[in-house]
Amino acid sequence: MENYRHILAAVDLAPGEDPVTLRAAALARQYGARLSLLHVVEYVPPLDLAYDPVVPMGVDIENQLMDRARAELKKRLAWVGVEGAQAHVEAGSPKREIVRFAREHEVDLIVVGTHGRHGLSLLLGATANGVLHHAPCDVLAVRIPEEAGDG
Ligand code: AMP
Repeated sequence: MENYRHILAAVDLAPGEDPVTLRAAALARQYGARLSLLHVVEYVPPLDLAYDPVVPMGVDIENQLMDRARAELKKRLAWVGVEGAQAHVEAGSPKREIVRFAREHEVDLIVVGTHGRHGLSLLLGATANGVLHHAPCDVLAVRIPEEAGDG
């Protein structure tokens, strides 16, 4: 099999160690592949009963969340130490944006996390499952250990 050339880490910015970024970076080094980190800001403004936004400045909040995500990803880029690695932030549905990014940037391996929190049938979780079903390339689901007391 050919080497992977462009690896995408889907980064959810949960606090603590990030096994998805670590694994994607290790593989990028091993294969001499490009590495992209992608976070998707999924901001849905709260709506009132007439389906009008409760907070009118939803776009500002989304922009702030995107700025914060860019800053977080920059920190990760600094510690992954993969030359030329890039960080991207999109807004929308994580699984849809992850798949879209992969198609548009000729990604050949997507790395996502899975918590395995809900028993075997739901092992993959919504994001990993959605990505797996629609990805144009290989998908690696990295097991994320449960925090003590979580779930
Ligand atoms: P979930 O199924 O939502 O628990 O998420 C599982 C995995 O999907 C995470 O470990 C990430 O790899 C990826 N993921 C979830 N949400 C996002 C997001 N907003 N942006 C990028 N990747 C995400």
